[in-house]
Amino acid sequence: MPKEKEGYKGIWTLSEKREGMLNPVSFELISWGKGLAEKKGEPLSTVLLGESIEEDAKELIKRGADIVYTVNHPALSYFNPEIYLKVLAKLVEEEKPEIFIASATTTGRTIMPMLASKIETGLTADCTGLNIEEGTGLLLQTRPAIGGNVMATIKTPNHRPQMATVRPKSKKIPPREETREGKIIKKSYPEELFRSRIKRLSFEKEDISELPVQEADIIIAGGKGLKDGKNFEMLHKLAKLLDGAVGASRAAVDMGWIPYSHQIGLSGKTVNPRLYMAVGISGAIQHIAGMSSSEVVVSINKDPDANIFQVSDFGIVGDLFEILPIFIKKIEEGGKR
Ligand code: FAD
Repeated sequence: MPKEKEGYKGIWTLSEKREGMLNPVSFELISWGKGLAEKKGEPLSTVLLGESIEEDAKELIKRGADIVYTVNHPALSYFNPEIYLKVLAKLVEEEKPEIFIASATTTGRTIMPMLASKIETGLTADCTGLNIEEGTGLLLQTRPAIGGNVMATIKTPNHRPQMATVRPKSKKIPPREETREGKIIKKSYPEELFRSRIKRLSFEKEDISELPVQEADIIIAGGKGLKDGKNFEMLHKLAKLLDGAVGASRAAVDMGWIPYSHQIGLSGKTVNPRLYMAVGISGAIQHIAGMSSSEVVVSINKDPDANIFQVSDFGIVGDLFEILPIFIKKIEEGGKR
């Protein structure tokens, strides 16, 4: 049975705080939300859960939010899905947003499906585009489907809120407007809402000594053509010389040559660097889905018919084990960029 749609109004985003800092994806979401809110002629609200979040709420207003709903509690100082779920469900039940979007981060990918299921609505995960349909005002949620072969646009006509997660890095961070004003609505709930069966025993950070791929201007990505994990050393060396990061195809990740955090593509990260160098990568559609918006693509592949050349600005047909050392040598001789 369709859920009652009456009374659901407004565009919401979910802001995230991580290790004491606002995650910049919160600002990207504001860019997305702002576009939707302008089309609907409604204010943009964002939700921030955490501890000591007063200054962060002000920052979200400077970045474009009109209203910030805050829930401040020590139990929200780190992401506990059980507590986050109870609090968000309560907020949605009370305030009835028409559209609620989050970033497809670990937090967003975990909490939004749980929330959608609890409040009995639909969710489109991992969108690359959001829009408002003319006439109906429905949220158009676009994402790659069928292994990245088609772009599907999904609507949620019968249930509210309309929910979606969007890929990080799919929108530019809005500039900060120092004098911008908005409303902060502080919500508080009974203690029992913050009780949980989940307890965090410790937090171990992944050892990332290099720049994360999503933040890099230059990415040197390797695939199965590298033949062995130890050959990724060449890519790390080149990436270091260029102040870049190392990316990988899923095949390379599946072989255990490099951690998943480096995977580019449909089931990995979406990136848009100034330079993307694809080394020994065939260019499967699922890989291209994550890197096609790179400014300049350079590929090295021994197969002249490799699909990667279809999306490359410069293609080098040849053996990567001969070509890559020449590249590295030339850059070392020329000094740092
Ligand atoms: P291959 O396709 O095996 O290509 C290796 C390439 O190396 C070949 O083109 C070969 O010519 C070249 N080569 C070999 N030796 C040399 C040499 N000496 N010098 C130069 N070139 C050489 N893939 C992703 O990458 N990211 C994703 O997020 C992703 N998500 C997926 C999601 C789904 C639902 C599915 C079904 C698949 C997904 N895949 C993803 C997998 C994808 O379909 C491909 O299998 C994968 O991208 C292939 O990786 P590759 O190019 O490294 O390997």
